[in-house]
Amino acid sequence: MNRYIAFDLETTGLSREDDLIIEIGMVKVQDGEIIDRFQSFVNPGVPLREEISVLTGITDEMLKDAPVIFDLLDRVSDFVKGEVLVGHNVDFDAGFLSKYIPIENTLLDTLKLSRILLPFTPDHKLGTVARYLGIEVPVEHRALEDAITTYHILEKLKELIPETDYRVLIGTRDILPEGGEKQFLANLVNLSVKKGLNAKGYPFPIPENVKIPEFEEMVKIDVEKALSSEILERREQQVELAKRVEEAFEREEFLIAEAPTGIGKSLAYLLPSMKFSKEKQEKIYISTFTKTLQEQLLNKDIPLAEKLTGLGVKVVLQKGKNNYLCLKKLVNMRGDEKPEVYAGLFFWSKITKTGDLSEVFQILKNTDIIYYQMDDTCTGSECPFYRDCFYFRMKRELADANIVLSNHALIFREGIETPYIVFDEAHELERVATDALSRTFRYSHLRYLQRVMKPLLTRKKYRELEEKMKDMERVYQEVVDTLMPALEKFNTTPYDENNVNRLIKISDFLEGINEFTDDENVMAIVDRLKSDLSLIIHMDDPAYAFYARWLSRNDPLSVEFVAAPVDVSEKLSEFFRGVNTAVFTSATLTIAHSFSFFKDRMGLRGFREKTITVKIPEVYDYVNQLKIIIPLFLPYPDRPDFPKKAAELIMGLTHLRKGSLILFTSYQQMEMVHSLVSDHMEVAGITLLKQSRMTSRSALIEKFKEDIESVLMGTSTFWQGIDIPGEALEILIMAKLPFPNMNDPVLRARSKRIEMEGES
Ligand code: SF4
Repeated sequence: MNRYIAFDLETTGLSREDDLIIEIGMVKVQDGEIIDRFQSFVNPGVPLREEISVLTGITDEMLKDAPVIFDLLDRVSDFVKGEVLVGHNVDFDAGFLSKYIPIENTLLDTLKLSRILLPFTPDHKLGTVARYLGIEVPVEHRALEDAITTYHILEKLKELIPETDYRVLIGTRDILPEGGEKQFLANLVNLSVKKGLNAKGYPFPIPENVKIPEFEEMVKIDVEKALSSEILERREQQVELAKRVEEAFEREEFLIAEAPTGIGKSLAYLLPSMKFSKEKQEKIYISTFTKTLQEQLLNKDIPLAEKLTGLGVKVVLQKGKNNYLCLKKLVNMRGDEKPEVYAGLFFWSKITKTGDLSEVFQILKNTDIIYYQMDDTCTGSECPFYRDCFYFRMKRELADANIVLSNHALIFREGIETPYIVFDEAHELERVATDALSRTFRYSHLRYLQRVMKPLLTRKKYRELEEKMKDMERVYQEVVDTLMPALEKFNTTPYDENNVNRLIKISDFLEGINEFTDDENVMAIVDRLKSDLSLIIHMDDPAYAFYARWLSRNDPLSVEFVAAPVDVSEKLSEFFRGVNTAVFTSATLTIAHSFSFFKDRMGLRGFREKTITVKIPEVYDYVNQLKIIIPLFLPYPDRPDFPKKAAELIMGLTHLRKGSLILFTSYQQMEMVHSLVSDHMEVAGITLLKQSRMTSRSALIEKFKEDIESVLMGTSTFWQGIDIPGEALEILIMAKLPFPNMNDPVLRARSKRIEMEGES
């Protein structure tokens, strides 16, 4: 593809029917060079909405003397005639143009290419993709500049992607339907074939889940000395915690350590863990609650710990089964999936080192992960893909690992192979254990069953199954409808027999599945579903709290029924009976200076002799270094005027020009405050960042760290697991303290039980 036109439009909005073009930008490219360009404003004849002016920098003043679209059509038609049209989300721009001139050109979409060929970009927006490829983006959201950026992206892909194995590119090309993207892939295949054995491999960094030590020496280390070396300023609190952890390993104890933020907790447990692992040739599990902390350990703290100690350790990042791609399912989905989605998954499956589906969360937004994730239907060593299977590859790596980085949920679901474990963010253990031990039922479980059964049935039988499934969908919808008023308000709600008695029809349907097949896999799924559903319908086990929760607001069928264990301490006790050393650490483990509540909830009552507690003193001089301000003049957060008053307060603080993190407990409230302050921030020249479903959390945090005067707004996932040192964060605003919701059915059941036991 040596000749094409990269183009972009700016418009008054996103609706092809109602909105109008305000700027056209195009560049004609021949053999990688721009040979012609076209730019014009277009007078839409209507005033611009403010957000469009803010986004593009285009004003009514700039458009008032511009030609109307009809005066430009001949020139535009001549410019694009017979050329391939390249754009980022090209269907959008071509759709607008086609309102005025026929567009019969071949279209090539760099957005689709990015989704297929660049799975590891933070997102696929034009600016993000360009920066990921090392292209400078001085101006965004202007037509000619965006057209030029699109041209650079295409040329970069042409230059770099052919380093990928040509067989992967051929496979990807063959999945795509006829069109510009397929032609472009064919181009890349030719370039890659020419490189042959000289191809260097996929040209961008690929995430890893195994870290092999660069050196293997076995040295005797002194943890205290290592923490007081030239590259690390000695912190007494850190050394104290490290000593306690070291003792816990030596004496095979359970250590509960409340340690404040800022002491360098991770190194304090990593060094003794690494030392013990190397000396005793034992695997140590390190479990976290948040992915952020896990990433920080893998990419920052463990390399630093190696540098400090001279100990090389093999680290394996372990996730739960259903995080991994099942290669057998991937092959089976060919033909059933949208080609562009499938091409992206296929390409990624050939270059990923981990098979971790979270790497392609952006592709999976357009499909259902259930069709690709490993699950209980896995046939293990009998599967033809067993040797290459990502999950089993990770398992094989575990055999000689020193450190296994894991997470709380997985630890409780799958257990541990050696009896040594460190729990960081231990305050979340009870909640996670409750989730991991909960029994659930939702409609997509039936959809999945249908999908598993499909290849086993004749067409006639499958049609019969489809009919039954439609009935079941109706039944489920009716049940969900009875709960909707409460779910719309609170997202979770208790239910009673009246709500769920119709689910018995689904139970009966599952009972009759053997009329379709007696396949072992299918029956295993059915048995599990029947058992979970029976518990959920009959609600007759006092050990559980029953409730419904709405998982995805745009899908009513995503309502899930949950039976959550009221008390997990017995189960946890059972788990800890097989553990020699366990370290529990977090900044918040005590209540009124006592560890008793934590010990009880964790099922540690029976381990008194081997349980040691320690409270590490604060490192910050809070009295002199921190100012806490409680604005009593603000209305309560549930009052309608709260967002306005909170916005005024936030705007009043902006003149300080200090990195500010604003935390909300409600997404809706964050949106309201954001809309009230955004103009003010724009005028003040302050970057305002906001959590959104379209931007990854880590990308937002990185931007926030880079611009030390920026303001970041976030909800739940921003309340913990964030490390923003120094000037980037000087003001923390909490719109409301995140107290647990006392309407939470599990919490209510727990409080009731604690009261009955005579405690409070
Ligand atoms: S071994 Fe299991 S998870 Fe792996 S590809 Fe086969 S069926 Fe899927």
